[in-house]
Formats: sequence, structure tokens, C-alpha cells
Amino acid sequence: MILITGGAGYIGAHANKELNLAGYDTLVLDNMSYGHEDFLKWGDYENVDLGDLDSLRDVFREYDIDAVMHFAAFTYVGESVEDPQKYYINNLKNTLNLLQVMNEFKVTKMVFSSTCATYGNPQEIPITETHPQNPISPYGKAKLMVEQVLADYSSAYGLCYVSLRYFNAAGADPEDEIGERHDPETHLIPLILDAAIGKREDIKIFGTDYPTPDGTCIRDYIHVTDLADAHIKSLKYLENDGKSDVFNLGNGNGFSVREVIEEAIKVTGKKIKATETDRRPGDPPILVGSADKAREILKWQPKYDDLSRIISTAWEWHKKDNQN
Ligand code: UDP
Repeated sequence: MILITGGAGYIGAHANKELNLAGYDTLVLDNMSYGHEDFLKWGDYENVDLGDLDSLRDVFREYDIDAVMHFAAFTYVGESVEDPQKYYINNLKNTLNLLQVMNEFKVTKMVFSSTCATYGNPQEIPITETHPQNPISPYGKAKLMVEQVLADYSSAYGLCYVSLRYFNAAGADPEDEIGERHDPETHLIPLILDAAIGKREDIKIFGTDYPTPDGTCIRDYIHVTDLADAHIKSLKYLENDGKSDVFNLGNGNGFSVREVIEEAIKVTGKKIKATETDRRPGDPPILVGSADKAREILKWQPKYDDLSRIISTAWEWHKKDNQN
């Protein structure tokens, strides 16, 4: 059985679906702080907080766990700057709890959700896995610290892990069963789609004076189902005795904020009002990753690799999720 922490969240729920489609039994662990009851469509579920070591031990006693996919984390970069303790406790300390209990129960495989935020401001594009890691937010720092802990636990205790450094997760399940829903919503594509359905008046463009061709930030958007697939490929890699490693997950194509808005106008056929505003602090001008290593070693091949497809899956889900 595969334990999925944070399996009621955006990326965790998509991984849960794909794991079940691939024939795995799953157990979702979520404290529902940001998870969604209606995303619990596959496998078993236990409401457990990773801060609670005893409940965690009960879970490992009750279920026969072969491997862990660890998604549970807070993900608001700006909030992590204002309230770092919240991030270090949940994203770092609670991960140490999970690793401690895995160690006690001799569970040796973990796929960890890391992030391109561990790189900080890029020195070169595309970013490869060997790029220096100088995170600029407590969110990125806590993720990097976990990566370092995993490396030490691997040497000392034989833990086998894969850390996956995601670029910008986007899109939704092509069958519309689950999708992106955050409260508060801060991500570009769902906010644009809110403007398309009239839930918001406009989309704010955060900064138009960046050193990019159209002055807006460039990001590498990667479909959530492709991310889920990379988790399964990582799990199979570990099952086949692959050695612990880290991989970037992105499409290697950058799109500016203006390009994303233009594409969303085409996909939705709606008018979307864009308002230019100041920069959002902490946004690097360009983040584009090279995922050549994942393609080569994990044999990962993103399927939803064009922006129009990514936005159209997000749009179908967004309309359905906002029907009432
Ligand atoms: N962005 C924007 N307006 C918004 C939200 C985001 O212009 O309302 C920009 C943001 O500055 C960044 C890009 O869109 O350059 C992607 O932001 P998002 O928060 O989706 O992901 P991040 O890159 O921060 O992980």
C-alpha cells in the first residue's frame, strides 16, 4: 500500500488517482487544513496530522505501507516570509516526524514533493538539478532542508528517496474529477479563469518592467497529471532499486504572464480584463527548468505539454467547480 500524505490536496489527489489507475492500493493521510473532502475519491483515508506522532504510528501499525509519497505541506511563499514558524513546523518538523516513524517501521521508500523555489534567483536558464540552491523564502528553505535531511537519512539509515522539484503546477484532471482549488487562491491560471467566469473583475499583472521580452514574468507550467505520472515513475524507479536522486519536473518552455492571459482568452472565448500593477515581492523574472534528467532516467514524458491543453483542462474543471 502506498501512503499519500496531503492526498486531499491539489497535486496529491491527482497522484492518488493515477496510482489507483495504475493498480496500486493507496491510503491518503490528510489533516484537512487545506484538503478537500470531495477529492477523496480513491483508496483509503485517515484524518491524521503529521504533528501527531502517536496517530502516525497507529497508521503504520494498521496498514502495510510499502512506500510514502509526501505531498503534505503549506505552499504560500509570501505567508512563509511573514510566518516562518508555521512553515518550519509543518513542512520541516512534521516531515521529520514522518521520517522517524518510517524508520521505526522499516519503510524505506519516499517520493518527496520539492520545488524549484529551492534554487532561489536563477543564475542561468534553463535550471538544471546542479544549479546552486539558494532559496529566498522560508518555504523554499524548508523544502531544501528536507532534501538535505533525506540525503543524510539515506546514507545513515538506508532510506531510498526521490525528490521532485516541481516548476509551476497547473491544469486539472482531464476527466474533471478533481482540479485546482485553493483558498485563498494566489495562482495565476485559476485567477485568470475566475476573471473569465466573472467571479473576479480582472486579473492583476504583477509587474511589467521585468527584463523579459514583454516585461512580465516567465514561468514553466507543467500539467498536474504529468506531475502525478512522474511520481509513479519515481516509485517504480525506487521499486527497481534505483538510487536516491533529485529531478526537476517542468516542460522546459517558458510563458510570460501576458502570454498565459492571451492563451486563456483563446481557450475560454471570454473577455478577460488585465490590470497592470506593481511587482509582487520575491518573484524572479524567469523560472524555466530542464527536465532532461527525469526524461532520461525516469523515462518521464509529459503528455499535456502545450499551454493551450493545460489551460483547457483547468477551464473545464473551473467551470464545473464554480457551477453553484
Ligand atoms: N501572477 C500575476 N498575477 C496574479 C498571480 C500571479 O501576475 O494574480 C504572476 C506571478 O507574479 C508569477 C506568475 O504569475 O510571475 C505565476 O505566479 P503563481 O503564483 O501562479 O506561481 P509562482 O510562480 O509564484 O509559483
